Amino acid sequence: MHPHIWYPYTQAKTAPPELKVKSAQGVWLELADGRQLLDAISSWWVNTHGHAHPKIAEAIYQQAQQLEQVIFSGFSHAPAEQLAEQLVQRLPTGLDRVFFSDNGSTAVEVALKMAYQYWVNRDRPRSTFVAFEGAYHGDTFGTMAVGGRSVFSQVFHELLFNVRYVPFPATHLADTAAAEREQQALAQLRSVLAAGDCAGILIEPLVQGAGGMQMCRPEFLQQLRQLATEADTLLIFDEVMTGFGRTGDWFACARSHTTPDIICLSKGITGGFLPLAVTVCAEQIYQAFYSDNPLKTLYHGHSYTANPLGCAAALAAIELTAENFSAFAQMEQLHQQQLAAFSAHPRVENLRVTGTIAALDVVTAEDTSYLNQVGMVIRQRSIEAGVLLRPLGNVLYVMPPYCITEAELAQVYAVIAEILDSLV
Ligand SMILES: *Cc1c(COP(=O)(O)O)cnc(C)c1O
Repeated sequence: MHPHIWYPYTQAKTAPPELKVKSAQGVWLELADGRQLLDAISSWWVNTHGHAHPKIAEAIYQQAQQLEQVIFSGFSHAPAEQLAEQLVQRLPTGLDRVFFSDNGSTAVEVALKMAYQYWVNRDRPRSTFVAFEGAYHGDTFGTMAVGGRSVFSQVFHELLFNVRYVPFPATHLADTAAAEREQQALAQLRSVLAAGDCAGILIEPLVQGAGGMQMCRPEFLQQLRQLATEADTLLIFDEVMTGFGRTGDWFACARSHTTPDIICLSKGITGGFLPLAVTVCAEQIYQAFYSDNPLKTLYHGHSYTANPLGCAAALAAIELTAENFSAFAQMEQLHQQQLAAFSAHPRVENLRVTGTIAALDVVTAEDTSYLNQVGMVIRQRSIEAGVLLRPLGNVLYVMPPYCITEAELAQVYAVIAEILDSLV
């Protein structure tokens, strides 16, 4: 390990030595020792259009010579304004106000603060949030509190505010019990909402990410929307991972024909070039803060809020997403075809696909969990085979940049097949 760096999500004592990356191009990482690795996880899910995409690089270069950074309170700039317009145009009708920040956790923090203060500002305070078991919303205290309690947040448990949890109705290919599971989740949700103290319901729509790539049906989100409206509470979509094409449409809300009251976006927003995030809300929420009373202000902001370079990168990434829109449906089909080969594999269960994301559970003697040891084994073997895979415990997933070719994707699956066979 490097003597001066503390790496994230890494137990330095037991982790294998970190791999030094020299450069990257498209789906390929080049290591300092000359090895090539195919990045099948989009570098922690952010790199949507491949590494070093010349169009995004050029946009950043141009913007850097014009305006690299400026205070965003009392000031504005063209890249932020254009990006806000682009986002509102692509999001479902009704999501109108864009609040900028710089990472996914923060986008969710802002959503929580908006929702909580919305009720305070309207003199109808609400004291809690409803979230889903297995959810992951980030690593700050607020986002840990709304995440499912896990090994990530366990040590901080007593400092986290109370949240009510309901089950996430996870489904998979050839599942016949999905509708039943959804009804159970909705029934629990109904009883939780009956208390009338819920400021908002927070969900990762269609795909729960770090919690294990659990997928739900669009039908569930539609019923959730209806329930939130009936209970007069806010529906918050954490689309930090699912945004910008990941689920096969611009956003999971578009794919599921649902409109949340607040949406959080970050990972793919700049194509993986720069940290940036937005929290977009309905005009009605903004209006609850619009007042002569200074106490009704949303007192929240960050040093690099709406960084112009990030906004310029995001504008270029959005153009690329629009140009490559047909790639999403194609990738979904390829995932399905490739996964079919594992349907009878003795070490595999719960095959699932949503858009550009494919996942499966590796069957081991241990439970499905982030600490399941098979994850480390797969990680090491895939790197030896030239592919970057990083299972969440025994949950193995593929989430490549959109520019991956059919042959490259086949290569990823060939390595997966080899590794799964070696486990038998
Ligand atoms: C990654 C992620 C976050 C946190 O984003 P960071 O940029 O890592 O802080 C929040 N929600 C979801 C759904 C995520 O996948």
